Amino acid sequence: MGKYDVVIVGGGIAGLTAAIHTAKAGKRTLVFEQQKRFGGRAITNKKQGVYFNLGGHALYKGEAYEAFRELGLRLEGSTPSIDAYGMWKEQVVPLPTNISSFFQTPLLSWAGKLEFAKWFIKLGKMDTSVWNEISIRDWIETQLHDPMLRNVFYALLRTSTYVLAPELHTAGPALKQLQRSLNGVRYLDKGWGTLVEELRKLAVQLGVELVSDRKVGIIEHQDQNVHSILCQDGTRIEVSNVILTTPPSISHKLVPHADQTALHTWNDQSIPVTVACLDVGLRQLPKPRNQFTYGLDRSIFLSNHSREGKPRPAILSDDGTQLISLFKYQGAQTDAAKDEAELEHVLDVVQPGWRNELVIRQFLPKMTVVHDFPHMNRTEDPGPAVPEIEGLYVAGDWASHGELLVDASVASAKRAVSHLLNTREEIKR
Ligand SMILES: Cc1cc2nc3c(=O)[nH]c(=O)nc-3n(C[C@H](O)[C@H](O)[C@H](O)COP(=O)(O)OP(=O)(O)OC[C@H]3O[C@@H](n4cnc5c(N)ncnc54)[C@H](O)[C@@H]3O)c2cc1C
Repeated sequence: MGKYDVVIVGGGIAGLTAAIHTAKAGKRTLVFEQQKRFGGRAITNKKQGVYFNLGGHALYKGEAYEAFRELGLRLEGSTPSIDAYGMWKEQVVPLPTNISSFFQTPLLSWAGKLEFAKWFIKLGKMDTSVWNEISIRDWIETQLHDPMLRNVFYALLRTSTYVLAPELHTAGPALKQLQRSLNGVRYLDKGWGTLVEELRKLAVQLGVELVSDRKVGIIEHQDQNVHSILCQDGTRIEVSNVILTTPPSISHKLVPHADQTALHTWNDQSIPVTVACLDVGLRQLPKPRNQFTYGLDRSIFLSNHSREGKPRPAILSDDGTQLISLFKYQGAQTDAAKDEAELEHVLDVVQPGWRNELVIRQFLPKMTVVHDFPHMNRTEDPGPAVPEIEGLYVAGDWASHGELLVDASVASAKRAVSHLLNTREEIKR
């Protein structure tokens, strides 16, 4: 298959981003993806004219957004307002996110409302890194006084991070993500598949060779140097730089003697985060005002991704069908039937009569949102280089140095490339 400077394993957002940056630096780059199409967990499937991501996806204005903008991606879509409701004891009640809901909501006492307003203002300019050493639970329990406000913050931080373990998630990165969500997220037209397609096209324009339907089996190394990559179909490529964007468990399996490397620690310390996702396409909303609801006494979240926003609603269907996404945040034990029934029940409460408006639905019982996150039991941040094997790098949403979700995929991909380029330059000198 020719000679390459860099081979990247995995063609999701991390892999495509890394490939674009190595190619921009003049490196001959090849990407292997085991699936038939590129995009990993960021693909979109169109069913009956409705664009379904693998569960609802929102682009925060973080590292990924900045990097995609720098690359010239269009990222067309909508930024909906943050007006929100909470679900508490089977009722849908407004959260005090604007003047009218501030006065009207029965959810919080006056003291609670004032405390909420104080934090709302403070969060906007707070240096969140001050809270990098404590958990979300410790932050909430020491900083917030009103018991209901604590429930609200548990829900806000869970929704921003997808993690149902406030005792484990470090507070700093979670609060930063919440800050970003207050600045408005973006729902992308026709789903995240458009983002993947833009990245894929750019990679091709830059000369990256993209090979799909090809599963990598072994990263061969000798004398602490990568020397080749072997695919399961027998294809072998000689190469001295490999960026793995596979999950930590797979990265560990692909590298012989990984137990003697940092890959062992990174795999051992990783805690995957999963959710059940129910997406429904509805002709119209039975309760048009209930578009964005946090579970306050249940670990759920509901958002209408087609709702009005700037500059207009996101285009998520060909005929105006509204796309509502729900999540059930999961712990270690999961039960698909129970999760589905709970999400349907939430819809019954928030959008009663939704079944009569149903066009199409998608239920995904257990999706891995991230393979790891910044948590209190981490012994070290993964990557960018595997120190014991020259030429081996890692990236992906688990290789976070404080970033969350796709921001971690993109930031870690850029870190891997920049480390690779600097190391190789040093070796040349
Ligand atoms: C339900 C859900 C909701 C989410 N919501 C958000 C959100 O709102 N905001 C946000 O920022 N992020 C969100 N995310 C997270 C985001 O989708 C992921 O962080 C991101 O897509 C991960 O990209 P990646 O490249 O790191 O990993 P992946 O997309 O998993 O890519 C890894 C690729 O490697 C390939 N691969 C694996 N093994 C091999 C092998 N042996 N050989 C070749 N290829 C291999 C896989 O097929 C895959 O394509 C969400 C994720 C889910 C599941």
